[in-house]
Amino acid sequence: MRIDFTSSRVLHVDMESGASRVISFGTRSAHLGGSGLAAALYTEYGLADAPADDPRQPLIFAIGPLTGFFPLMSKVVCGFRSPYTGEWSESHAGGRLALAMRFSGYDALMITGRARSLSCLVVGSRRVEMHDVHYMRGQDVFTAGKYMRRFGADRHGHRSSLRIGPAGENGLGYACINVDSFRHFGRMGSGAVMGGKKLKGIVVLGDGSFTLPEGKAYPALFKKIYSDVTGTDMMRKYHDLGTAENLLVLNELHALPWRNLQQTSDPQIDGISGERFAEQLLLRQTACAGCPVGCIHIGLLRQQFASDHEYLYKQVSYDYEPIFAQGSMLGITNASGVLALLDETEKVGLDCMSSGVALAWAAEALEKGVISEKETVVPLRFGDVHSFIAAMGHLVRGTNDFYRLLGQGAAKAAAEYGGEDFTCVLGQEMAGYATGEVFFVSQAMGFRHSHLDSGGYAYDQSAKDKDVDKAIDFLVDDEHKRVLINCMVSCMFARKAYTPERLQEALSSLGMTEAADALTDAGRMVQRERWRLKIATGYDVNAVRIPKRFKEVVTWKGPVDVAYMDALKQRYARAILDMAAAGGGEN
Ligand code: SF4
Repeated sequence: MRIDFTSSRVLHVDMESGASRVISFGTRSAHLGGSGLAAALYTEYGLADAPADDPRQPLIFAIGPLTGFFPLMSKVVCGFRSPYTGEWSESHAGGRLALAMRFSGYDALMITGRARSLSCLVVGSRRVEMHDVHYMRGQDVFTAGKYMRRFGADRHGHRSSLRIGPAGENGLGYACINVDSFRHFGRMGSGAVMGGKKLKGIVVLGDGSFTLPEGKAYPALFKKIYSDVTGTDMMRKYHDLGTAENLLVLNELHALPWRNLQQTSDPQIDGISGERFAEQLLLRQTACAGCPVGCIHIGLLRQQFASDHEYLYKQVSYDYEPIFAQGSMLGITNASGVLALLDETEKVGLDCMSSGVALAWAAEALEKGVISEKETVVPLRFGDVHSFIAAMGHLVRGTNDFYRLLGQGAAKAAAEYGGEDFTCVLGQEMAGYATGEVFFVSQAMGFRHSHLDSGGYAYDQSAKDKDVDKAIDFLVDDEHKRVLINCMVSCMFARKAYTPERLQEALSSLGMTEAADALTDAGRMVQRERWRLKIATGYDVNAVRIPKRFKEVVTWKGPVDVAYMDALKQRYARAILDMAAAGGGEN
């Protein structure tokens, strides 16, 4: 298939009727792809005035124009109305999905409506099928994955498999969508959106082909980028220890959250450091399709399942963020304990970061007597792996009112039971960077409430002054660069390889000169449209609050400067409103 570079090819499936159609959508040089394409599709087909859980709301998966053509263009943007905030949001994932979509011939998959019974959607270059899978109700992610292998097994292709666990079916605010093995659309509850559509799984067959560009420019540029990411030190750390190398560094800086952010450093770090994982538990590294780096670290989990010497082993992926959320934040100081918790969150289909941080709040609330074991059912204690695994089960099943609220986020549980001062929530459960004021403000107010919206954590570590304008200019400008990456949709780890100029070269080499020429302006427009959508779907930037716990943090720089943080907050709110109000354009 020759790809149409003027517009995007979108497959729309309505779960209610089972009907599907292919849409030639928008102008590529305006919406670009990925994040911009998802926002443009929601603007056209979404219902900003209807509630987030209205089944007519679209769930969108979008790749970028460079997907399948260049290394590390391996991610997919999932755009949806978040059940956690109600607002327009995004989550990104790797795995095989991006290439499977490219080989199936779609730039985006848009799903609306709710199926009559639990279903699995199978999408290929020449077929779209809905299968009744009511017998998979309540199945965990691993079992569902095994059942789903039979869908499309008769087709040769680059299949990718998405599914939800009981957390998504039960509508938890931070249920994730598991992608193939080890990858996830994690934050903001995309799994609950799938659950609301009675969509247990999606198989993308990747059963077509596409034509590569002729001429010398494309292969020469491919070679250059490939050698940059494999033949230099640019990506080395991601393959070596991986992001887990940050544990020792941030602990040393007094910037690693421990025990619900009651500490920022702990001498027991050696038990869960990246080095400890690598030396004792690392089995192998693996990669998303189309990535020559391979940053996904797989650890060995050995579990006794019967008396005498009966053991089973499992392969569990780990990274910095999961180790922070299910390790230091819960006071777990041994690597195998962290893997056991990560395996449990993977199985039930919960985002590991949000669930870990929410349970950390519950443990402190119990410790302080804000709640009792009547609520937690199990004696939650920092450092006790088994109590947190048991609590995860109560969370997913919604055993009582407390767990049902906690399943919508720590802030919602604290609003009912107390303990709001020590919720570690910055728009959503915090990411693992207690680096200071700029990061706290950037996550609390950022577009996805993610450490990936902009490099606030890096700014905290490098800035020598407290210049509010300079800090906010950095956040806005860095977000713009990341918007370009998110439109293409490259792995964020490759952002040094894919500068805006390099992205222009890549677009030109494929013949998309109009998109290349318009890239910077189009990026600004996508940035603006994303903020507009977030605000139109309920975001009040002036209502954001940062809990007291963040004002008590002490890092290597000393105590957090609350006046500086307040000034950053006000200035960032103005910048966001300015971005959303900037001039118009087409999608
Ligand atoms: S660097 Fe890691 S996350 Fe990024 S594309 Fe490669 S394997 Fe996937």
